[in-house]
Amino acid sequence: MPRQKRIPMRTCVGCRTVRPKREMIRIVRKPTGEIDLDETGKASGRGAYICPVVDCLDAAVKSKALQRSLQRDIPDEVWKELQSRLRGEG
Ligand SMILES: [Zn+2]
Repeated sequence: MPRQKRIPMRTCVGCRTVRPKREMIRIVRKPTGEIDLDETGKASGRGAYICPVVDCLDAAVKSKALQRSLQRDIPDEVWKELQSRLRGEG
């Protein structure tokens, strides 16, 4: 039988669409409680995922889904970094 690689899928906190994890941006709550963007997708801690789309970020801001998912407030720097990332500036 051919070996099938399972693609890890995650739900976007903005649009609730399930997509391959590697196509998404991970926001992590580190074990220290700090919230950060996870560049590698491998940082330890609780993760939340969002599509790399401004609409999803806006939806997540409005619904507070990211705060709910990580059970923390999201620092302004993280929002700003997400925004600049999604606008293709970073
Ligand atoms: Zn989305």
